[in-house]
Amino acid sequence: MSLQTVRNVVLLFSNPSWSDGHSVPSTILRNITALSSKIAYSEDLLGNITTLSTTSVSTANGVVQGLLYVPDLSDDDPCNDLAATYIPQNVTRQVNLPTTNYNLIALAPWINATCTRSFLASARADPLRAMLVYRPDSDTSQPPDVDDEAWDLGDAGAWKTTNRYPVYAIPGASGNEMMRQLSLYSGDLSEVPFSDQIMSTYSPNPADYVRVWTELTVITVSKTLPLWAFILIILGVIVAVIGGTSLLMHFVQGRRRAALRRRVMRGEVNLEGLGIKRLIVPMKHIKAFPLFTYNYDPPVPSPTTGKFPQKKGRRSSEASWTPVSLRNDTRNEKIDSAMDYQPACLICLEDFESKKTIIRELPCGHIYHPECIDEFLSQLSSLCPSCKASMLPPGYCPKITNSMVRREFGTRRLRSRGAVIHVDVERGRRRLSSWSSNMKKHIWHVSSPKPDEGLDLQAVSLPEQPRAGRLSTVGTTRDRMQDLIVPVDETNSDDGRPPWKRTALKVFPGFR
Ligand SMILES: [Zn+2]
Ligand SMILES: [Zn+2]
Repeated sequence: MSLQTVRNVVLLFSNPSWSDGHSVPSTILRNITALSSKIAYSEDLLGNITTLSTTSVSTANGVVQGLLYVPDLSDDDPCNDLAATYIPQNVTRQVNLPTTNYNLIALAPWINATCTRSFLASARADPLRAMLVYRPDSDTSQPPDVDDEAWDLGDAGAWKTTNRYPVYAIPGASGNEMMRQLSLYSGDLSEVPFSDQIMSTYSPNPADYVRVWTELTVITVSKTLPLWAFILIILGVIVAVIGGTSLLMHFVQGRRRAALRRRVMRGEVNLEGLGIKRLIVPMKHIKAFPLFTYNYDPPVPSPTTGKFPQKKGRRSSEASWTPVSLRNDTRNEKIDSAMDYQPACLICLEDFESKKTIIRELPCGHIYHPECIDEFLSQLSSLCPSCKASMLPPGYCPKITNSMVRREFGTRRLRSRGAVIHVDVERGRRRLSSWSSNMKKHIWHVSSPKPDEGLDLQAVSLPEQPRAGRLSTVGTTRDRMQDLIVPVDETNSDDGRPPWKRTALKVFPGFR
């Protein structure tokens, strides 16, 4: 708490003695300076003050105030003679003040270390709120800085804490003037400056006091922070709130991404099937799907009866078409529907030729030309063109983004409300079953104990020219591929948003 201003005014006090020594209410005092500055001393010192010690500053409203006086030195103190040069004989001492218990502000010249120690010690016994010191020989308007050796009392600054009151240094000229005024306002009412006017204006009792009253305005750095500090604090709070919220949302979003990743890897979520993300299958994985030679034996009418043989179940009893090792019990029900007759490649629409065409069978049981399905899966889609089952390797998961989490959540919410979202998957299945219904009497038949035989799997691609003798062309095949992929709406992804929204989503990834 440093001292900012010193304000001296003159107060008129009632003398307790005229009420037989009983204490007089303080309301009887009057601020003569405030009422008429022409008939009383007043002085404002707005700066050029050095705060030497802030020990035990006691203030509720930033003002330390009291009657100004000069502490008494003991009679045998050699400093009395030295100080007489600077302190007028009739200066206000404690004995000249009202006997009631007012707070005091001491004023003392800083002559040398010895005398200052004497003044400080004397003031310790008084009801002191603060002490003002000044270097009487100095004509400068600015007292030395707090670290200046002028304030050294030879105890390494210990005096600043051993005296339980704050000490402030004022310019020498101001100190000298205040000392002179203190000598004018120490006597009876008839002796103070402008006593006649005061008497006629206020009609006080002649025994009343007129004394100098000092108000010190101190500021507490912690209480009055500069504006930039407030702005910094507010900015800091805002940054902390934004940062904390962002961190929390990133954490939550990270957990959502991890949860979606786990569900994708377990096969519970088909990101492409939901129209969330276009995916492709690694060629290495596609090549692991088995190749067969298409083998179809049309049923022959019995030479004796002229009838077709009786079928057991849906398949011809004489067909020995399935490599058993590839048909195990872990297959799901989709296999059964896929076992239906598939006479042509769904992608290029060309018929398979029995014992001639090499076909690739997907895990769902659907068969295609290798060159058709390999290009389709490796470049366009990860889904079987027929049943839309995912052909991605088990445990495979693309990089999950917040946008995917958002859209998967939205899709799940729609599904929970009963909306149909597997339209494309269903469409594929319907297409397949309509085919099979046309050819109920037929079965298809594959056999290939040596998968991938006779096929250059490293360079599987559609020929650039239409195959001779066939109706379809590469162009139309590729058009059909485009028709067979599930539409993916990536307009709702983060890439399609305006930059400001993308930035906001990066900071607050949970917002939609
Ligand atoms: Zn094909
Ligand atoms: Zn399929």
